[in-house]
Amino acid sequence: MPVTKAQQLIKQAKNDQKQIISHLMSVVAKGDLSHAYLFSGSAGLGKLAITKVIAMRLFCINVQDDGYPCGICNECLRISNNEHPDVLVLAPDGQSIKVEQIRLLKREFSKSAVEGNRKVFIIDDADLMTTSASNSLLKFIEEPVGNVNSFLLTDDYHKLLDTIVSRTQLIEFPKVNRVALVNYLEKQQLTKTEINLALKLTSDLNEINRLCEDNWLTKMKQQVEEWFTKLAHKDYQAFPLIQTNMMPLIRDRQDQKVTLNMMCLIFRDVFNVKFKNTPANELAFGNIYDLIKQTGNQLSDNQLLSIIEDILINARKQNINVGFQSILEVVTLDCLNFMR
Ligand SMILES: [Zn+2]
Repeated sequence: MPVTKAQQLIKQAKNDQKQIISHLMSVVAKGDLSHAYLFSGSAGLGKLAITKVIAMRLFCINVQDDGYPCGICNECLRISNNEHPDVLVLAPDGQSIKVEQIRLLKREFSKSAVEGNRKVFIIDDADLMTTSASNSLLKFIEEPVGNVNSFLLTDDYHKLLDTIVSRTQLIEFPKVNRVALVNYLEKQQLTKTEINLALKLTSDLNEINRLCEDNWLTKMKQQVEEWFTKLAHKDYQAFPLIQTNMMPLIRDRQDQKVTLNMMCLIFRDVFNVKFKNTPANELAFGNIYDLIKQTGNQLSDNQLLSIIEDILINARKQNINVGFQSILEVVTLDCLNFMR
């Protein structure tokens, strides 16, 4: 039988945050679950997976001997697919979570509370609640009606109103430790400089796995190096490389972001070698140290800063839906101009 999404979530929760999930499973078993929790920790630590597993545990009709939900019953399946009528996941509508969203949620809940149903609501990116949304929610968690459990998720609880934090049970998710991350990357058979690059791009284990899929990181790193080499020689062949070599590697929006980030990092390496004498083994692109050093000698600090700033400005255009290929082409032409 294929593994269900619900089973994957249980596995992920156990892998990512063994201590937190087993603690919470025993809290549920004792019937001690608080009305409102606040989960705080950076993206990729598995906050949403853990929350869904708790919800599954509350509704599962076939709780396992180890105290975990089964991951195959209809309740578990519907929760894992965001299709359960009594488990609501609220996420930002555009840039924020608005007061109307909270009001709708409250209406929904007071209705079923009368019917005595258990309800779970999850607010992802809770720090994006507007002040009026926060205040509206506050009254709701202060006077919980019926059998309701709420879970607020945030990457940093300091971004929430103190009044919210003080009325919820705060659980801080531990950061992934850097030594463990390096060990993990070494097992992925990455070279030393690929590991440096990966660590400069992210500290999120899921994202690292994504980057390593099909050797994506290795392939794109080579393309960025080739692009940079052409630029360093003021060779306009850097331009067609975008379409022929880079674009075919772009799988999604996150890849776009990472690619621009890599372009920025290679020029940061130039900057760091030029002004801080950073050694090759600390660079993201240390394998082409000589070229990086030589480029640094050719460019003034103004030229370098202009290039880095230009890449950052163009990276922001991603948010206004400018075609990604044209963003890279503009960056390339700008770089060639700045380096003249
Ligand atoms: Zn189940």
